[in-house]
Amino acid sequence: MSTFSLDPGADQLAVRDWLHGFAADVMRPAAAEWDEREETPWPVIQEAAKLGIYSLDFYAQQYFDPSGVGIPIAMEELFWGDAGIGLAIVGTTLAAVAVLANGTDEQIGTWAPQMFGTPDDVKVAAFCSSEPDAGSDVSALRTRAVYDEAKDEWVLTGTKTWATNGGIAAVHVVVATVDSALGSRGQASFVVPPDTPGLSQGQKFKKHGIRASHTAEVVLDGVRVPGHCLLGGKEKLDERLARARERAAGTARGGSGAGAGSASGAGKNAAMATFEASRPAVGAQAVGIARAAYEVALDYAGTRVQFGRPIIDNQGVAFQLADMKTRIDASRLLVWRASWMAATNQPFTSAEGSMSKLYAGETAKWVTAQAMQILGGNGFTREYPVERMHRDSAIYSIFEGTSEIQRLVIARSISGLPIR
Ligand SMILES: Cc1cc2nc3c(=O)[nH]c(=O)nc-3n(C[C@H](O)[C@H](O)[C@H](O)COP(=O)(O)OP(=O)(O)OC[C@H]3O[C@@H](n4cnc5c(N)ncnc54)[C@H](O)[C@@H]3O)c2cc1C
Repeated sequence: MSTFSLDPGADQLAVRDWLHGFAADVMRPAAAEWDEREETPWPVIQEAAKLGIYSLDFYAQQYFDPSGVGIPIAMEELFWGDAGIGLAIVGTTLAAVAVLANGTDEQIGTWAPQMFGTPDDVKVAAFCSSEPDAGSDVSALRTRAVYDEAKDEWVLTGTKTWATNGGIAAVHVVVATVDSALGSRGQASFVVPPDTPGLSQGQKFKKHGIRASHTAEVVLDGVRVPGHCLLGGKEKLDERLARARERAAGTARGGSGAGAGSASGAGKNAAMATFEASRPAVGAQAVGIARAAYEVALDYAGTRVQFGRPIIDNQGVAFQLADMKTRIDASRLLVWRASWMAATNQPFTSAEGSMSKLYAGETAKWVTAQAMQILGGNGFTREYPVERMHRDSAIYSIFEGTSEIQRLVIARSISGLPIR
């Protein structure tokens, strides 16, 4: 009996339909306003919290769906609604996943609920890794974490940039260097609890797209956090550092790191496996944007009449739509495959997670551009949503590892060579 199936099952389809309703009825009508305001849509997040869509429970349930497609289905639907508001709603999960992946059970139990707050007092969280001089090259982080043994406190100093929810978050998760000689192997993640002195928001960025999502610098000026805020605990860190030092002493090639841009041999280290498992979720967001733009274009092409017939009657337009739909479906299949691989612990021998994010991200940019073309002059105006979708899609070849970095990771995986 074959067990192969692409049927998500009744539970996942029910979740999809439920989220679709929220996306259509709540997110879409609010999309243009929050894009113009360039502010965090707190009332929409609160509405999502009241319905249980913005909650730790909901994401944990999808995250642990054994088929793996719980998260991609949720992401696609929310980002079909609107990408800026979608990111405002799911941005917290970046930090939550960092705690889930690296924290002890006690740390997960303490911090994950505080990241979401309650429906009456909604909170968001931020994951702060990128720095002005460490984007693709995460091994170059300069933010330092120094242990003050007498007080059992860590002191964090440095400047983070591009942090989604940076400065407005209740809980910040900060990646910092404990031993810079070890590159990314010398880094650790720390929780900065609410209202900790020394953490402040720097510049808030005015962006091209996903403008309802807050993106800002985070300045850490001698921020003191208790020892228990080191994710995974000190003992585990000390063991990891000792192993990394041994390896560095043993091989002149050591310390090349696990970051988006520096993986040698995907699947060989835990951080790479984490990236491979999280990238399909970002790919699914891109699928949602692409599908939304495609649907607008398909509808428009069927009703817009030129030369006495709907423009879809021209092969030039119909074939464009055929290619759009084909690439969207191919993207979703890559996303679902990688998500299923992560959920069933398959080794990512060809960086399949990176593949899904690369292809879906590029597809969203391409499909939204085609959609604008099909809408002609209307596509170029803010009267129609496709120009916003096109602006929103542009981030999908940049964050969570640029398209070039995804290609680098895939190329290294398939060749086994240290491609530069
Ligand atoms: C809206 C937004 C939200 C973000 N949210 C977060 C967040 O929440 N937390 C966080 O930590 N970060 C976040 N980021 C940061 C994001 O992950 C980085 O912008 C991204 O990793 C790229 O880094 P960079 O901008 O420094 O570009 P760079 O690394 O400077 O890259 C510039 C260009 O050079 C190319 N390039 C670099 N190295 C190579 C190479 N070896 N081979 C080929 N090409 C290469 C890149 O692909 C890119 O085209 C966010 C960014 C944005 C814009």
